Amino acid sequence: MDFEYSAKTKDLQKRVQAFMDDHIYPAEAEYSAELAANTAAGKRWTALKTVEKLKEKAKAQGLWNLFLPVDSASASGYAGAGLTNQEYAPLAEIMGAVPWASEAFNCSAPDTGNMETIARYGSEEIKARWLKPLLEGQIRSAFAMTEPEVASSDATNISTRIERQGDEYVINGHKWWISGAADPRCAVFITMGKSDPEAPRHSQQSMVVVPADARASASCAR
Ligand SMILES: Cc1cc2nc3c(=O)[nH]c(=O)nc-3n(C[C@H](O)[C@H](O)[C@H](O)COP(=O)(O)OP(=O)(O)OC[C@H]3O[C@@H](n4cnc5c(N)ncnc54)[C@H](O)[C@@H]3O)c2cc1C
Repeated sequence: MDFEYSAKTKDLQKRVQAFMDDHIYPAEAEYSAELAANTAAGKRWTALKTVEKLKEKAKAQGLWNLFLPVDSASASGYAGAGLTNQEYAPLAEIMGAVPWASEAFNCSAPDTGNMETIARYGSEEIKARWLKPLLEGQIRSAFAMTEPEVASSDATNISTRIERQGDEYVINGHKWWISGAADPRCAVFITMGKSDPEAPRHSQQSMVVVPADARASASCAR
């Protein structure tokens, strides 16, 4: 395999590094101060103005949605930077030098994985409702797999039940460690559960898109 950086990657490496040097590193103190003030005010998970301003700058420079692989982008009908994973990896390395920097480029987890999943497998309706605002950096999302009762690194252990009842899915389960769930912008969860417990061991699971304001019939802790 040829690991030489492509011309496109080399150009983006320069531009992402320049953005880090010109905008991200100088904003680190402002970020910390704003986060500390929000935490003291009891609103730790709210969006930070520091990052929102930088998102606009990165978007204006075309340093936006770099993560969306070229094949997912074409499957979804939405444009990313048109990179392969091999081309994206060295850019993620540069962004990763500051823990929060990837959000400024709309390249932060868990949204990246969730956007890619919806791009590949979502219906047109789901793409319009969730993928579009996620790609525009207007909402955030979360991924709910881990459960307190089972060893959750193995999806075959997951015990949450997803049952179809008429036109609805009823989900019964207990999730924790859901990164980003407390962010007021978090509008959607991709949730893993068992939809067919009688199927072969590795075919029992499904993932469903759950709006954050979906009706909950039991106590729901974030
Ligand atoms: C910062 C942070 C953010 C997270 N965000 C999310 C999130 O957004 N959404 C979400 O769903 N979860 C999230 N998690 C949870 C995390 O993904 C899980 O903790 C992880 O998947 C491991 O599952 P577990 O804790 O149940 O550990 P376990 O599955 O119990 O695993 C514990 C250890 O045992 C090993 N192990 C497990 N089964 C076997 C086996 N059969 N044989 C040998 N070894 C085994 C594992 O490799 C691991 O080393 C987050 C965790 C952290 C720390």
